[in-house]
Amino acid sequence: MNLHEYQAKQLLADRGVAVPPVDVCRTAEEARKLADRLFSEGAKLLAVKSQIHAGGRGKGTFKSGYQGGVKLFKSAEETEAGARAMLGNVLVTKQTGPEGKLVTSVLVAVAPNIQKELYVAVLLDRTSSRPLLMASSEGGMDIEEVAAKTPEKIIKESVDPAVGLMPYQARKVATALGLKGDLIGQAAKLLMGLYRTWWECDATLLEINPLCVIKTNDGKETLQAVDAKLSLDDNALYRHSDLQAMRDLGEEAPLEIEASKHGLNYIKLDGSIACLVNGAGLAMATMDIIQHFGGQPANFLDVGGGASQEQVTAAFKIILQDANVKGILVNIFGGIMDCNVIAKGIVAAVKETSLKLPLVVRLEGNNVELGKKTLAESGLTIISAGSMSDGAQKVVQAVLG
Ligand code: GDP
Ligand code: MN
Repeated sequence: MNLHEYQAKQLLADRGVAVPPVDVCRTAEEARKLADRLFSEGAKLLAVKSQIHAGGRGKGTFKSGYQGGVKLFKSAEETEAGARAMLGNVLVTKQTGPEGKLVTSVLVAVAPNIQKELYVAVLLDRTSSRPLLMASSEGGMDIEEVAAKTPEKIIKESVDPAVGLMPYQARKVATALGLKGDLIGQAAKLLMGLYRTWWECDATLLEINPLCVIKTNDGKETLQAVDAKLSLDDNALYRHSDLQAMRDLGEEAPLEIEASKHGLNYIKLDGSIACLVNGAGLAMATMDIIQHFGGQPANFLDVGGGASQEQVTAAFKIILQDANVKGILVNIFGGIMDCNVIAKGIVAAVKETSLKLPLVVRLEGNNVELGKKTLAESGLTIISAGSMSDGAQKVVQAVLG
């Protein structure tokens, strides 16, 4: 699950990390009111930032043609107009895909006076099975290019999860960032706060880009996390009711939400062959074998270890809402599950959805003979497969000819 920038900043602020204020507006009028107040309090420049679960907003374009999902304004009138141009409109960035994301809220805050933009992230390094602190002095909107062209400019510090980020490691990274004087101690403290946030929230990724050296009104230099991206580990969400409450369903794919209501694990992909499988490992193997025989999977769909007839029907309905689907492969291994329950579920689902697409079914395991009999006697056109590779070849043949 991903969080919005304002939510991530709130969690950081709670743990002592310096961030700009996190006031969110859902209408242009609200933005105007806040802007009036901030300018009357002496602000010179306000930042208006589209809140979507995607980065690259600064360089993004709205479908209306309006440029930029993160903008700076010098007056309350401009701030209001900017918020109006963003709210209710679809922002397309490098990370949203061409369909873009609808902006329903904007962060409005006094824009700090930025001297330098740095990059910092805490993530899970799957190669070493350890948390990794990553940083670069070349932060800002072109960090992907820095990583690709000058990877030596990315600082990496591996963390022992048993003891967490040690203060000496934080100071080492702060120094490597090229910071001087007071800022080294400040950065070290901030990095400790980032690591703590990442750890306590069971996050998979916390990215601050940019982490800024800013100049305050009295001429001092200080650090502030000007942007924040926080991705959480779904498997640990059960122990964070406060974080669950931050879920924004409007940001998630409607079919995936529908699937999770039925206890199904569904991820849409771009291919034409839908697969319905029990168990994540078998689902991965099924997607692989479809590709091996020249097809492209339309989804990952795991109905779990004990799928019911209701779940199978729901799974078919979800699959059929994807217009790219031209054929379906059901691949079930009945270990705990009774193959006949699945067979009855398939028959009911085919009837209920008036399925016209080619359907290949491979059943194996517990009570498989009765399951096959149920399918054969149903009177429906179901292509039966004897093995996994037979099923994959048959469905690819049926779809691609
Ligand atoms: P992203 O493009 O989605 O990563 O959004 P960011 O929040 O990182 O904003 C993009 C860029 O806008 C940053 O790299 C900054 O240069 C600039 N920016 C964002 N917020 C502020 C702000 O409050 N003040 C100033 N001066 N610039 C900002
Ligand atoms: Mn950013």
